[in-house]
Amino acid sequence: MPGRKGCTHKDKMDSEIRLENQREARRRWQRNNKERALELGRKFYHTHPDYVSKKIIHNRKRGLIALQWIREYKNKIGCLYCGEKDYRCLDFHHKDPKDKKRCLSQMHLYSMATIKKEIEKCEVICSNCHRKNFSKKGGENIC
Ligand SMILES: [Zn+2]
Repeated sequence: MPGRKGCTHKDKMDSEIRLENQREARRRWQRNNKERALELGRKFYHTHPDYVSKKIIHNRKRGLIALQWIREYKNKIGCLYCGEKDYRCLDFHHKDPKDKKRCLSQMHLYSMATIKKEIEKCEVICSNCHRKNFSKKGGENIC
């Protein structure tokens, strides 16, 4: 808008929402046109080798940053029941299984916004407490 100074918070939010809508529209198109999307992807891969290799490195770095963030989050929160604070022993338990979209252990390549949205649906619980409190059939299937 002419005469306005800089970008307001609302403008930023609007542009993020617009960007997310564009991404969602692209994903929808890709879901409905799988063969064509694959064909275009392959063509792009071969015609833009520099971009693709930079993108792979960028995504790998981003994934490592997200993984580190998730580990620090688990260490900070600790087990809801016993207080265990080692990320290697801690799981994300979805409070309502119906809300579960993805498994957080496989989400480090997603955007931080998506990761945080999924974490909001979860409690951090250590593996032992997770088994004791939430195993199917009260743990009778564990030998
Ligand atoms: Zn525990």
